[in-house]
Amino acid sequence: MATCALAFSLVGSAAAYAEEADPATAAATEGKRVVRVAYYEDGDYMARSEQGGYVGFNIDYLDEIARYANWSYDYVDYAGFEDAYAALEAGEVDLLPSVYRTEERARSILFSESALCEIYTTLNVRIDDTRYAYEDFSAFQGMTVGIIKGGIDGLAFERYCAANSLSVNVVPFVETQDLLDALADGEVDGIAITYLGKNSQFRTVAQFAPQPLYCAIAPTAPAIATELDNAISQLKLRDPDFSSSLYDQYFSLNTNQDPVFSNDEYAYLAGAPTLRVVYDSFRMPFSYTDPETNEFAGVAAHLFKDIARVTGLRFEFVPVDSHADGVAMVSAGQADIIYGVDRDVEKETLGAIRTTGPYLSNPMAEIARGNPQGSRIALPTGFSLAAEVEAAHPHAETRYYNTPKQCLDAVLDGRADIAYADIYMANYLLAESQYQPLSILSLTDYTNDMRIGVSRSADPRLAPILDRCIQYTSSSKLSTWVSQSALAVHPTSPLDFLRQYPLQIIAGLFILFAAIVAAILYIARTKVRTNRHIQKLSYSDPLTGGWNLARFGIEARRILADEGEQDHAIVYLDISRFKAFNAEFGFAEGDRLLIGLDGLLGDLARGRTECHARIEGDEFVALIVWKGREEALARFRELDSLFNALPALTSREHRMLLLAGIRVVEPGAVRDEALSELIDDARYARESIGEAVRSTAACYTDDMKVRDIEQRMLLLDAERGLGRGEFVAYYQPKVSLATNEIKGFEALARWESPERGLVPPDSFIPQMERSGLVIELDLHLFRLACERLRQRIDAGRHVVPIACNFSRRHLLGDAFPATLKRIVEETGAPIELLELELTESMVMEDFERAHAICSELKELGFLITIDDFGSGYSSLGTLRDLPIDVLKLDRSFLVGSESSARSRTILEGVVRMADELGVQVVAEGVETRAQADQLRALDERIIAQGFRYSRPVPLQESDRQLDARAIDPKG
Ligand code: C2E
Ligand code: CA
Ligand code: CA
Repeated sequence: MATCALAFSLVGSAAAYAEEADPATAAATEGKRVVRVAYYEDGDYMARSEQGGYVGFNIDYLDEIARYANWSYDYVDYAGFEDAYAALEAGEVDLLPSVYRTEERARSILFSESALCEIYTTLNVRIDDTRYAYEDFSAFQGMTVGIIKGGIDGLAFERYCAANSLSVNVVPFVETQDLLDALADGEVDGIAITYLGKNSQFRTVAQFAPQPLYCAIAPTAPAIATELDNAISQLKLRDPDFSSSLYDQYFSLNTNQDPVFSNDEYAYLAGAPTLRVVYDSFRMPFSYTDPETNEFAGVAAHLFKDIARVTGLRFEFVPVDSHADGVAMVSAGQADIIYGVDRDVEKETLGAIRTTGPYLSNPMAEIARGNPQGSRIALPTGFSLAAEVEAAHPHAETRYYNTPKQCLDAVLDGRADIAYADIYMANYLLAESQYQPLSILSLTDYTNDMRIGVSRSADPRLAPILDRCIQYTSSSKLSTWVSQSALAVHPTSPLDFLRQYPLQIIAGLFILFAAIVAAILYIARTKVRTNRHIQKLSYSDPLTGGWNLARFGIEARRILADEGEQDHAIVYLDISRFKAFNAEFGFAEGDRLLIGLDGLLGDLARGRTECHARIEGDEFVALIVWKGREEALARFRELDSLFNALPALTSREHRMLLLAGIRVVEPGAVRDEALSELIDDARYARESIGEAVRSTAACYTDDMKVRDIEQRMLLLDAERGLGRGEFVAYYQPKVSLATNEIKGFEALARWESPERGLVPPDSFIPQMERSGLVIELDLHLFRLACERLRQRIDAGRHVVPIACNFSRRHLLGDAFPATLKRIVEETGAPIELLELELTESMVMEDFERAHAICSELKELGFLITIDDFGSGYSSLGTLRDLPIDVLKLDRSFLVGSESSARSRTILEGVVRMADELGVQVVAEGVETRAQADQLRALDERIIAQGFRYSRPVPLQESDRQLDARAIDPKG
């Protein structure tokens, strides 16, 4: 197997992890989170080994994730996907790997942001059938192909045929086994089916219709989803090839299968002479002479080694100093093969060289210093795309230098404004410290495809053989070779490099590198050879088409340097509850909103003195001219109103809030590194707002950073505390105004932190709300309440309903009712004594959805309370249709009612209407005798809750209160 050493070592270590005896106990001692994973038998994805361990693509992937997330796993076995999926939906397990994402599923479960891998439909033939080579369309014409009747793969195949002008005879089968048998028996020439795995008895000759697979997460475990997303992005950054190597190991059609040749070709291979291959000694990282071993090295060297393995051909490698020399030698028949040629070579050499298909796309980068608009261009002599560059810049002044390095030098000392070089070369050179002032401006339209060139005087069978080998070289293999070569030839060793440069530079390089690898994979996959999109990949945002953060950095620095006298400000901006919007209306609508916002930021920007970019998700950053607070706020309000006038929002009468943080930049304050700090500051300012009820902008102050860090610490602590049972319920009684009898309790969260003491909910609920941890907290309190009821009933003591609070986040998924029901069943609590408090504002946020969920909850037998009623803008009329049992008046009613006649009138109206609807009224925050008297005068049946009767108290004290049945009010 030709999988590279890099992939092997990683996979090896991951496998070692999987053999840990008992993840739960091991994890407990190391403070790891134990994540419950649903397992079902799924071939190469997940299976049980003979020793009983869990093996497969999913398992290796999760093990790698575990290293970043500090997790361990507890696998739970299920009979099949359906069962496993249901268990995930109900929150019995936390994770289910490799799941197709559909909008419908996304409504009831969570998905990882990135896909784990992509699965393809494939066209398969018998292994020994030499008529078909990979994507050999002319051979496919007229072929007889079996498919599963009415299946997705059949459809995908039809589309594939149409796209490639193939006409084939399609034979439908009902049973998969019959389909496989038909191919084995020679009844059909091929079958189109989802990839059969590396142990397939057939050979894959085409793959198409990729479908991404994601990791699914239980709706009750958003914190796990966040950790998973973080771990995946770290993994991608540190090891961009991990997933494709792993995919190769388990699924790639190339790792286990080598190309098949015709009998004639085998005859040639058997007696072929040693072939002379010429290569460039200085074309890092494609082709060069390794200074230590003095041997051929680089991506092309890897390729030829692999070809030698597959074909048995022997090569002799001959270095040349210039590319032109190599071409000349092969044209003259002095060598058989050249490692790589430009696309124009055939024209130039009058057909003396035959070329294979491309093995690597090689996009050209534009490199500039301070003046990217300048017109002096530096090109290396013999640059194959010189004509295109000159045609594109008719008024430019082009100068030629001997090497790409000299071109960069020219830009560095101002003799030229822009240089062109291939992206690998550029990346390689720019890593040298003297080139730090230079940056890659963009990838251009020009792409040079690397092809092997074969002399016309060589055997005619040679070029097709090499071509077939290239077709069987997977893109992931190539990207691995690129990464190995790019790192190996660096002037300093990676370790020295790490010591020499701060971490940010390494991270930056990795990101750039990941972008390049992504570009290669993209080109290879779509088979688009020269592609305009490539140009935009590295500096534009794939969604909006506008700038990305890297480009923003370049432009913002330029503006701040050029407009030295002006004050500017960095604005960090996001959309409040954007995730909820996505969950509700689908990702396509969410995307539309982001594109709309990006467009508005562009419309509002002032020419070349302001700019903006999308950072990621719904986060944007902008550089604006600062003319004081008033003016900035006016502009923010304008943005807000234009934003809310976007069709994506007006069409569904939806309002969304923008939240912004502003960091003012004094002239001259920006050094190169400082920009990211300024963006961070703006983000701290944004975070200081938290959630809000209207669009809000905040200006940065020094203590914001401190507060932000404190809040992050708190959240981490809280998460750990939740696992350790530090969160408890305090209970506050609800009392009859007429008799002072206890009619119920409200459970309120308290954090008994060993480090922080008793923490009230206002200090942790907002943060937990933002991170999603609140879901776990709410369910924890609910379980405590259930257990309390059960215990009292078992002990034969008196019970009353207990109310629990629930965050708006529960309403986003569909699993909420089922989750509560499960907890009730597990604890054996009487469902009719459990009251669910949902705030008025969360219900009004999406009334229809809230209505549907409330009906479901009601059906199950829960009591439903609208909390904080009167704090929002809804009228009781709106709530009329909701199946609610209790209306809890917000405390503000009482505070006002002592003085305001208007409050009183409203209160009377509410009480009357509640009475008509048969809804119980609870008044919250009753502190004084006067307030209680006033309420009693209104209606004796009102229930009171407040300090006048009791503060929220711990369980034991609350039990004593209930045993006494009634509360003696103060005063
Ligand atoms: P809430 O649901 O409106 O809870 C009532 C709050 O009013 C409680 O504050 C309670 O201690 C306080 N309160 C009760 N009587 C009086 C009074 O006479 N005067 C005054 N001034 N206040 C009174 P607490 O316990 O600090 O909780 C604050 C908020 O935190 C709650 O407001 C609720 O929104 C949230 N919260 C508490 N526990 C949970 C929970 O388990 N899950 C969720 N999602 N939110 C919770
Ligand atoms: Ca409440
Ligand atoms: Ca309340």
